[in-house]
Amino acid sequence: MQNFPKTYKFNDSGFGCLLTFFILAIVLGSFGLSWIINSVLILIVLLLLLPIVGWFGLNWWVKRSQVTDQCPVCHYEFTAFKNMDCTCPNCGENLQIDSEKFIRFTPAGTIDVEAIEVNVKQIEEE
Ligand SMILES: [Zn+2]
Repeated sequence: MQNFPKTYKFNDSGFGCLLTFFILAIVLGSFGLSWIINSVLILIVLLLLLPIVGWFGLNWWVKRSQVTDQCPVCHYEFTAFKNMDCTCPNCGENLQIDSEKFIRFTPAGTIDVEAIEVNVKQIEEE
């Protein structure tokens, strides 16, 4: 009869220890789980937001860095990037982009050279 309470007590403390460990595991597990769920949710939100923000950012950048205007030579409307010399896809005229507008790219001396060439051709024809 004296052994029974001892065994019972041992079992009880063992059960209590197991219960405490189990509760601790649940508490730690729920904390860990909520942290994991939170980080996963944050990651999902970031993954969802990043392409949207990136898309808007890219659109904004493209709109800011692109210019849509008519070619000053043939009036063909097209889009080109700013800070870049471009050629008209319709007539092949070299164009410069100057604050939202296309202007003819005319390096200094081009008109004079063209005039001389015309004169030379005219002389040769005569
Ligand atoms: Zn053109």
